[in-house]
Amino acid sequence: MKVLTIIGARPQFIKAAVVSRAFKEHRPDVQEIIVHTGQHYDANMSDVFFDELEIPKPDYNLGIGGGTHGQNTGRMIEKLEGLMMEVQPLWVLVYGDTDSTLAGALAAAKLHIPVAHVEAGLRSFNRRMPEEINRVLTDHIAEILFAPTETGRQNLLNEGIAQEKIKLVGDVMYDASLFYKEKARKPHLPAELNIEGGDFVLCTIHRAENTDDSQRLKNIFQGLGDSGETIILPLHPRTRAKIADYGIAIPENVWVIDPVGYLEMVWLEANCRLVATDSGGVQKEAYFFGKPCVTMRDETEWVELVEAGWNRLVGADAQAIENQVGCEVPEAAWQSIFGTGRSAQVVVEEICQLSANKPSEVH
Ligand code: UDP
Repeated sequence: MKVLTIIGARPQFIKAAVVSRAFKEHRPDVQEIIVHTGQHYDANMSDVFFDELEIPKPDYNLGIGGGTHGQNTGRMIEKLEGLMMEVQPLWVLVYGDTDSTLAGALAAAKLHIPVAHVEAGLRSFNRRMPEEINRVLTDHIAEILFAPTETGRQNLLNEGIAQEKIKLVGDVMYDASLFYKEKARKPHLPAELNIEGGDFVLCTIHRAENTDDSQRLKNIFQGLGDSGETIILPLHPRTRAKIADYGIAIPENVWVIDPVGYLEMVWLEANCRLVATDSGGVQKEAYFFGKPCVTMRDETEWVELVEAGWNRLVGADAQAIENQVGCEVPEAAWQSIFGTGRSAQVVVEEICQLSANKPSEVH
């Protein structure tokens, strides 16, 4: 059986790493063919993940990145369609909510190749987010939907998706955090930064709603600066470009470094006092490592973490960011929200079982 896996962006490399490993360990009979769309192409946004997470080198790299959403998605669909006709996979496997996810799902669905969607059912209910459009459309053309949380499963049911297509499997990112934490390593940081004691805030900012709005981005840096906390910010290339465009001065207490690899990121998450982010994945990872999170967005897909008291939504409000980043967040009980750490294996088994049970429908 051939499975065509489509990835293109940083969080997808991390999710695919654990599922690829599960294919090899539990179903070596499956031939996984990996396509990298090229959406993320900088060495520290792409190559480093393949190297350190030991993801097999992509069989195909489409080299499509740097355009608008429409340009990228269109070009990806065209190339992926040709590739799918050549490879003839039994399944197309997509992850998350990027342009690569949607392009892969659309190309496959029109060729009547069933689509498996890992991280299905997440909703911000904000259709201005490109990610929200990508996930809603992908979920509605997928044949099997792997929801990481009960909320995700419920969202899919609410949208009329048939119950039997939805599998609540937990979160493959939780699997990744458990597997790679043994290999975590401290990043190279400026010598004057002494963070061994854990008295620092780990920050990431990359979401379009913050980077494409100069006032929001200015407010965020104002709040981070006014907090006076030691903040380490591995900076996404998009955010770096926007900071330069808007002429934002980086406050002295904010230490900007290049994006780090996943093993270094895990070290920072495991050793920090608190996480401040607008990333979907980093919100969860904060929780995986028992760290409180301040989310610089107006809404989140990971509502369980807000309800459990581990995550606080502050939007791009400078005062709220200052207050929450500086404050000792009360510890709530840690519960298992994201599965058992064996989600990738369940994904693999489900895909294989469905292929065995319903060969006529999926061929
Ligand atoms: N990440 C990383 N290095 C960094 C920043 C993030 O390895 O410098 C990892 C992070 O640990 C998480 C993933 O990238 O696993 C999150 O990706 P991102 O924030 O780009 O996307 P999102 O999760 O918001 O879709």
